[in-house]
Amino acid sequence: MLLEGRSTIERAREQVLVRQSPVDRALLEELAHLPASDVPQLLQLADEVRMQYCGNGIAVEVLYNAKKGGCSEDCNFCSQSARYGSDVDPEPLSSVEGFLEAARDAHERGAGELCIVVAVRGPSAKLLERVCTAVRQIKQLYPLHVAVSLGILTETQIFELLDAGVDKVNHNLETSERYFADVCTTHSYAERWETCQLVKRNGLELCCGGIIGMGETIADRIDFLCALQDLDPQEVPINFLNPRPGTPYQDRSLVEPTEALRFVAMARLALPRALIRFAGGREITLQGLQDLGMRSGASGLVLGNYLTTGGRGDHDDFAMLQRLGFEVMN
Ligand code: SF4
Repeated sequence: MLLEGRSTIERAREQVLVRQSPVDRALLEELAHLPASDVPQLLQLADEVRMQYCGNGIAVEVLYNAKKGGCSEDCNFCSQSARYGSDVDPEPLSSVEGFLEAARDAHERGAGELCIVVAVRGPSAKLLERVCTAVRQIKQLYPLHVAVSLGILTETQIFELLDAGVDKVNHNLETSERYFADVCTTHSYAERWETCQLVKRNGLELCCGGIIGMGETIADRIDFLCALQDLDPQEVPINFLNPRPGTPYQDRSLVEPTEALRFVAMARLALPRALIRFAGGREITLQGLQDLGMRSGASGLVLGNYLTTGGRGDHDDFAMLQRLGFEVMN
C-alpha cells in the first residue's frame, strides 16, 4: 500500500512539476484515497508546486460585509439567509463612507486585497450603483486590489463593475453540481456557473471556490475540483464549514484537519497556477495545524473576520507567515 501511495505521488509530481500540467480526474481519485500516512508527502508535493508556480508570496485579503443578513436565498450553510433563525442581525447596505472606512482598515492591516460582500441573490440597480461609486473612490485612495461578491450577475452588471474599476468578482460554485441541489433550492448550480462564465468572458478576474464539509462525498469533492479546472478561475477560496447555529447544517461535524489539508493539496495539484486561498473555517478546522496548512499548497489567506464569524488576530497570522519565511504580497 505504501509503495502504491508513493507511486501515486511520484506520478503526480511528474505530471505537475515535470510536464507542467495539472493532475487529471484519475490521479485526483487516487490522491483522494491515499492512506492518511501518505498525506504528509502529498502536502510536501503541493508546497513544492505552490513554490514553482506561485513563488514565495502569500496574498492577504480582508473581507467587508457591506450588507449583512436578510438574504432571500436558502443556502443551508449560511447564517445570512433570512429563512433561518441564526444569530446574524440584518444590517442594510453600508454608506459609501462605510466602504471607504473598510478599505482604509484593510490597507492599514496590511492586506493587498479587499473583497466587498453583500448578502443578496443578486444586486439591485441601487445597490450596484453604490458599490460602483464606492469602488471608484477606493481605487483612487488606496493601492488595493478590489473584489466584489454580489451574487448572480447579468452581463450588463458586469460591464458596470468593469467600468468602476473592479478587479475581480467572487462567485463560488460551493460544491459539486450533484450536491449543490442539497445545499440550495432557491437558485441553481447552472445559474452560478453562468455568472462565473460571464465574469471570465468579459475580462474580470474570477474568484471561485467553495466550502468543504457540508456533507458532500469524496466523489463530490473531486467533481468540484474538475468543474473548477473547467472554469479555470484566477483564485480559488477554500472554506471549511463552520456550522452556524440556526442553519440546517448547524449539527454537521467539522472536517478532519488531515482531510482539510488533503483537499487543499489536491486543489493545488488540480489548479497549479491559481491563487488558492484559505478562507472561512481555517482556525476552527486546523486549530494547531495552521503552520502546516500554509505548507500544503495555499498561496493566500483571508485575515480573520469571515463575514459572520471571527478569527484569530492579524498579529498571529503575520507572525505565522514570517515564521514560515513567506513574503506578504500587498
Ligand atoms: S446567496 Fe449568499 S448570502 Fe444568500 S443565503 Fe446563499 S450564501 Fe448566504
